[in-house]
Amino acid sequence: MSQRQLFVTTALPYANGNFHIGHIMEYIQADTWVRAQRMQGNAVNFVGADDAHGAPIMIAAEKAGKTPQQFVADIAAGRKQYLDGFHIAFDNWSNTDSPENHKLSQQIYRDLKAAGFIETRVIEQFFDPEKNMFLPDRFIKGECPRCHAKDQYGDNCEVCSSVYAPTDLINPFSALSGATPVLKSSEHFFFKLSDPRAVEFLTEWTQNGKHVQPEVAAKIKEWFGVRTNPDGSTSEGLDDWDISRDAPYFGIEIPDAPGKYFYVWLDAPVGYLASLKELLNQRGEDYDTYMANPDLEQYHFIGKDIITFHTLFWPAMLKFSGRKTPTKICVHGFMTVNNGEKMSKSRGTGLDPLKYLALKMNPEWLRYYLGAKLNGKNEDIDFNAEDFMLRVNADLIGKYVNIASRAAGFIAKRFDGKLGQVSEDGQALLAALREPHSAIVAAYEARDTARAAREIMALCDKVNSYVDANKPWELAKQEGMDARLQDVCSTCIEAFRLLTIYLKPMLPALAEQVEAFLKVEALQFADTGRLLGAGHAIGKYEHLMQRVVVEQLDALFEPPAAPVVEAVKPGGEEIAPTITIDDFAKIDLRIAKIVECKPVEGSTKLLQLTLDAGEGRMRNVFSGIASMYRPEQLQGKLTVLVANLAPRKMKFGISEGMVLAAGPGGEEIYLLSPDSGAKPGQRVK
Ligand SMILES: [Zn+2]
Repeated sequence: MSQRQLFVTTALPYANGNFHIGHIMEYIQADTWVRAQRMQGNAVNFVGADDAHGAPIMIAAEKAGKTPQQFVADIAAGRKQYLDGFHIAFDNWSNTDSPENHKLSQQIYRDLKAAGFIETRVIEQFFDPEKNMFLPDRFIKGECPRCHAKDQYGDNCEVCSSVYAPTDLINPFSALSGATPVLKSSEHFFFKLSDPRAVEFLTEWTQNGKHVQPEVAAKIKEWFGVRTNPDGSTSEGLDDWDISRDAPYFGIEIPDAPGKYFYVWLDAPVGYLASLKELLNQRGEDYDTYMANPDLEQYHFIGKDIITFHTLFWPAMLKFSGRKTPTKICVHGFMTVNNGEKMSKSRGTGLDPLKYLALKMNPEWLRYYLGAKLNGKNEDIDFNAEDFMLRVNADLIGKYVNIASRAAGFIAKRFDGKLGQVSEDGQALLAALREPHSAIVAAYEARDTARAAREIMALCDKVNSYVDANKPWELAKQEGMDARLQDVCSTCIEAFRLLTIYLKPMLPALAEQVEAFLKVEALQFADTGRLLGAGHAIGKYEHLMQRVVVEQLDALFEPPAAPVVEAVKPGGEEIAPTITIDDFAKIDLRIAKIVECKPVEGSTKLLQLTLDAGEGRMRNVFSGIASMYRPEQLQGKLTVLVANLAPRKMKFGISEGMVLAAGPGGEEIYLLSPDSGAKPGQRVK
């Protein structure tokens, strides 16, 4: 069989945060697939990159006081510990701000333009007059036009879930500056997906059963049909895609269009090619020659949230810029933790990959567990702590690892580490183990690692039945049974080697330990075709894998301890819980003139104030400020009155409001007074 040439990528993580378990799941899935390909002798280039561009990164960098480049570089520096930690072996990790990506994105754009797929149109968009920039939808907030919930994003309402345009918002404001955005027109560049050539190509490409899973194809089909727009109108077919953003924007400049940049989703997938090109350059290989190979296969592993970009925009960009289109888009679902609880850091129900590693939990437990759950379909999977422990301890260790530990000791102690002849029953067992070779390889190819794991565990059961039937520990005590003991233990070691070959894509580090123990070269799938044979000397068996203990899982899911912070108490008192502007607006504060001020008989604390708040009547207010002020000091002064406080009946009469003062009390009470010019009755806001 001739060697296949494969180019494989995972989705590019947005470089504004660390990896979460969803990223790690995708990388493990892709890495397992790549390893299975290489074990078949296929040549694979496996690359990733950070998605560096776009407004959110630009804004986050500004907040952090860094350049976007430095911001992205700092995030990128944290990637290695995750990738190495889980044995995820990319051949190259780049970022989309690389010179290769700038050049390639601009060239693809030029090619699309030459083919008649680029069009400009003037559109109206919200513009922040203070920040001097057009606002992305997520940075415009306002009142929902449907349910009137306040403080909703420009694209959808989190209260009533309705979807709308930012221009539909009531009282919109910029989330960056708080300013009221103004509508401003700007020329935008569009990729014409509505072009009949694109519609024809994409219909065929997505529905011919070759490039996407059937459940994904069915979903895409809906996008080609009649659909209802947020404004109630209907459209059919595909909409053109807005691929430009105005400066300031962290991205790649559009050629011959000053102040215009590619929308981040235009250059992000080009980053796949750019990272590959960077890798080939490092090796002194030619990118164009590599890509020109008609047999080159291109695979993209992605999550279900970015199907549109990868099954419509990306293949169309490649096709109509005259480039190779992807062979397959491999879509996976999301990962939930412990029965579908949504992951949340604060509640501690998420699975933090770095915490997992810090607890010295074996990364291959997770690789195996995820492998045993992923079936190649676009379906969500759940990480369940009990199930995890069962699959690792009962299956992986109980069924597989134990085979070696049960046989290796006898071979070392009694037979000088050498394997013996395998007799007929042992040969029959080994033949049964070699028989599903193609089925297991096919399961890996289809990313149905769940099926591969099931098949392999069924084979482990067969081997364990053989061990239980032959009881090497009893043979070892019997006179004259040495040959049979060596035969049975050799069968077990041969079987263990075959099972290790099958498991190796999921368990690369363990397989390496086994290769050292068996004294063999790196195992390939083709190695199931032969056995070690009599006379082969194996090494010393060292314990291969620890069991999961429940304390580790408890620790993994224990919510992070609330940080002990010395409360800050400005002026001797903590800041009160946050309120909204609406809460504040409930308090009606008015300027009031102290027309008269008298001591209160029978009270050393209170003064009686007669206040004019511009209402055409006077108010009577008692205030606990007698320790600080003499009545004559206050007469004629202006102060601030809480004008809508419910009247309060006191021993000395009814108090109709409250005046504002600061200080802890006693000798330290300071009445508030407005700046000169304020008039009684004016509202304080
Ligand atoms: Zn709403």
